[in-house]
Amino acid sequence: MRIEQLFDVKGRTAIVTGGASGIGLGYAEALAANGARVTLLDLDPVRIDTEVKRLRDAGLDVAGRVLDVTDHAALDRAVDDIVASYGRLDAAFANAGIDPGPGYVGDWAGGERPRVTEGALENYSDQRWNRVIDVNLNGIFATVRAAARHMRAQKRGRIIITSSAASQRVEPAIGAAYMAAKAGVAHFMRCAALELASHHISVNAIAPGMFATNIGGGHSKLPEVQKALSTVIPMHRIGLPSDMSGLALLLASDAGDYITGQEIVIDGGLLLGRVD
Ligand code: NAD
Repeated sequence: MRIEQLFDVKGRTAIVTGGASGIGLGYAEALAANGARVTLLDLDPVRIDTEVKRLRDAGLDVAGRVLDVTDHAALDRAVDDIVASYGRLDAAFANAGIDPGPGYVGDWAGGERPRVTEGALENYSDQRWNRVIDVNLNGIFATVRAAARHMRAQKRGRIIITSSAASQRVEPAIGAAYMAAKAGVAHFMRCAALELASHHISVNAIAPGMFATNIGGGHSKLPEVQKALSTVIPMHRIGLPSDMSGLALLLASDAGDYITGQEIVIDGGLLLGRVD
């Protein structure tokens, strides 16, 4: 089969939660630029408007809808509406996620991994724990459930979850709830993959290392932070949302037909360790 057919996503319908920024926007652009019909589902109305306009002006078939993935009824309604208007749902990217908020994502500018604040675990508030779990774990579950209901009826579908390198290696400075959510998401992905495999629905996860996005107020976009991060990433550069294009197309197209239950790390070698 030729590469154009193998990776073809033309006319396929996709949703991306957290699709108006960063990694989710990277997935959305990769699919839409290759002819997919993509809906960005995101909390941020301003970013949705800006990105939908930019992508439509470039001739891409992109729509947007404001949605909080912690509102599971609204999520179900959004996915139902998208299936009603496009006729089907081929790929669902369960991607929306947050960092734990001020005080937990440290400053890398010194070139060292941020230290854990003394007593961080004992002082971790219920509110912070619940919010991170609600978005980063429960929101992924609800997105996968909403998509699976339609994909099961279609007897076909692709579900791609954004986990994190943090599902495999603890970064205590990012905080306990994020670690628990991402490890939970990775194993939830395997459970969903096993349940859905016989219905021709694949479920995989993409585990990013460190990417320049707007998470945590966009600190990873600061030149001094990127310089520091490049010293601990073996490929000596931070990841960019466009680095996601190949994996997004692989997992959403026929090229990925027989891949399920996998967490694919994309991190410039971060999890391998330090080389210099
Ligand atoms: P980002 O902040 O650039 O994008 C996240 C998007 O999700 C934003 O547009 C935001 O409005 C949206 N969002 C947040 N809460 C939401 C909610 N409740 N409902 C709907 N939308 C919501 O961040 P990003 O780095 O692109 O993060 C995307 C995913 O990648 C997250 O799951 C994150 O944990 C994961 N990740 C990021 C990195 C990194 O280095 N940037 C590393 C590993 C994993």
